[in-house]
Amino acid sequence: MFDDIAGGGRFSDIYLTPGSSGSGYLPLDPVKRPLTETEQITLNDIIVEFNSFHCLNQAISDFLDNADVSLKFDIDPDIPHDGNAAYNAETKTVSFLNEDEITFNNLWEEMFHAYQDAYYPGGTSQYNDEGSLNIEFEAKVFKDLLKLGCCFAFHADNNDPLYQKIVGDYNIEFLTAIRTTKNINQDEYAKYIEYFGIYNTQYDHANYSDALESPDALINLLEQNFNSSCKFN
Ligand SMILES: [Zn+2]
Repeated sequence: MFDDIAGGGRFSDIYLTPGSSGSGYLPLDPVKRPLTETEQITLNDIIVEFNSFHCLNQAISDFLDNADVSLKFDIDPDIPHDGNAAYNAETKTVSFLNEDEITFNNLWEEMFHAYQDAYYPGGTSQYNDEGSLNIEFEAKVFKDLLKLGCCFAFHADNNDPLYQKIVGDYNIEFLTAIRTTKNINQDEYAKYIEYFGIYNTQYDHANYSDALESPDALINLLEQNFNSSCKFN
C-alpha cells in the first residue's frame, strides 16, 4: 500500500479542506516526491480512520484489495486545477499537494476515485475529459451520504434563493431517499448532476458523459454491502 513512485493527478479537488490553504506552509522541495517516513505514518493513521469511519469505506478498501490494486502515494506540488489532492488512474497514485494536505477528507475523495477506477470496465482514465463531471459528482454523493449535513456537492456560500432551494432539496430529499431506500432515483440523479455542473465552476474543465449516466460504482457499493450490520446512521 505504501509504494512511492512518481505520479501526477487528474481528479483534483479544490474545496475539500476549506481554510487549510492559508496555513502559510511553504514546501521545502517543490517537486514531486515520495512520502517521507513521517508522512507515511500520518497517512497510515488516516487510512485507519478512513476504514473505521463507515463500513462502506471499509468496503472500498476491501474491494481494492480483492482487485489486487496497490495504490501509490506521493507529494505533488503541481496537482492540476489548483487541487489539494488527486488520483491518477493511469499510475494508481494518490497525490497530495503538500504534507498538510494528507488529510482524512482528501484521502476519502481519492479512495473513492480509486474504487471507481477499479470498478468501471477499462478504468476511469478514459473519462479524464468527457465523464470527469460524472466521476466527481458520484464521489461527492457518496461522501454526502455518509456525512450528515450538506454538503460536498454544493457550496453553502451562495445566497441565491433558487440555489438554496436546490441544495436544500438535494440534502433533505435526494440524500434522505437514498439512505432510506438504498436505491438511487435515476431522474433525480440526472437533475442534480446537472446542477452540480452548473454551480461548481471549479469543474468547468469537466464534461458529462452519457456512458456514466448511471452511478453504477456507487449503486454496486450500496447493493453489495448493506446488511444488518452495515447501514446508514
Ligand atoms: Zn474528486
